[in-house]
Amino acid sequence: MPVPRYSTQFLLSAMSPEQFPAPSVPEIAFLGRSNVGKSSLLNALVGEKAAKVSSTPGRTRAINFFSIQDDRQREKLRFADLPGYGYAKISKSVSAEWPKFIEPYLADRATLKTCVCLIDSNVPPQPRDAQLLDWLRSVDREFVVVATKIDRLSGNQRTRNLAALRKGLQIEHLLPVSAKTGVGIKELWARIEGE
Ligand code: GDP
Repeated sequence: MPVPRYSTQFLLSAMSPEQFPAPSVPEIAFLGRSNVGKSSLLNALVGEKAAKVSSTPGRTRAINFFSIQDDRQREKLRFADLPGYGYAKISKSVSAEWPKFIEPYLADRATLKTCVCLIDSNVPPQPRDAQLLDWLRSVDREFVVVATKIDRLSGNQRTRNLAALRKGLQIEHLLPVSAKTGVGIKELWARIEGE
């Protein structure tokens, strides 16, 4: 399913702003609560390299940067895979760490074009997601919200859940995707490339 004309190279893992790569091509950040399906979506977008690197021990709490290159090895885009947030099993002190280097990235990064915010279509609207979207609005960050694991829902449930998410998170557009069936992946690429 990856768009074949691109290849993906791991750049680096950053745990502080000094470690961010020098700004260059447009960047797309991927954000979501742990278990939302972020690795699976990255896998569907660019192949398994990105998903594998980001799940390596020691890299799960970092921002992992990937270079997206065309067939002549020219860097076109960068993906920034941000650590999952809001997972109940993580101690308070660790989740309190989340904003320390994430917020400077999201608030100040000049080359960050858009944020892809992942929301699980099977779960009711969550305060932590609402907070994140509010915060992105407050810093004037562009974002696209995708509803993950849409294949798990029947037609009726799907309509109901998407409406509840739109209302609860106060979003107009929600792009349903499935890493499993490939639904929405082309549309998401079109959004990413259009930025
Ligand atoms: P992450 O923690 O956000 O990186 O989430 P993962 O990509 O590891 O996915 C978490 C769980 O959801 C795994 O058990 C995946 O198999 C499952 N999952 C992820 N995407 C999909 C999807 O599109 N459809 C279905 N049915 N399951 C999915």
